Amino acid sequence: MDNSKNNHPAYSRTDTSKVALSAGEWKKILSPELYNIAREKGTERPYTSIWEKHTDKGTYYCAACGNALFQSDTKFESGCGWPSFYAPISKTSILYLPDNTHGMTRTEVQCGRCKSHLGHVFEDGPPPTGLRYCINGVILDFEKAKETEKKYQQKNE
Ligand SMILES: [Zn+2]
Repeated sequence: MDNSKNNHPAYSRTDTSKVALSAGEWKKILSPELYNIAREKGTERPYTSIWEKHTDKGTYYCAACGNALFQSDTKFESGCGWPSFYAPISKTSILYLPDNTHGMTRTEVQCGRCKSHLGHVFEDGPPPTGLRYCINGVILDFEKAKETEKKYQQKNE
């Protein structure tokens, strides 16, 4: 599960400026698994992500660049085999692109900061948005909400 995520200069959870690297540069800094999903629009096998049934409170980030993508309170159990959310953390955190590959008309979602492939968005999600962001777990990093962490630590002291 090592994404070599923090080992390159473009990775930042605070810098929101756009990241534009060549395929060769990405290849050098991402693990082969992450490169395949993020830059070659690969899809991980369903039900393989540690995030799929993950219910901790916190924030999900782009594993390629550190951009904040989703909050845990918009995550829901879709049963589709991939981590699913009904809304992104902000309007600009995600890009939407038409995807007509594989004989389907779908909407691809990419990271708003580094344009890595995340997954697709479908219109069969729960209220309030009715959307289902179906995301490859490989491209997600998670950080527990600070409050939860504090409570957890107190409990264990
Ligand atoms: Zn990114």
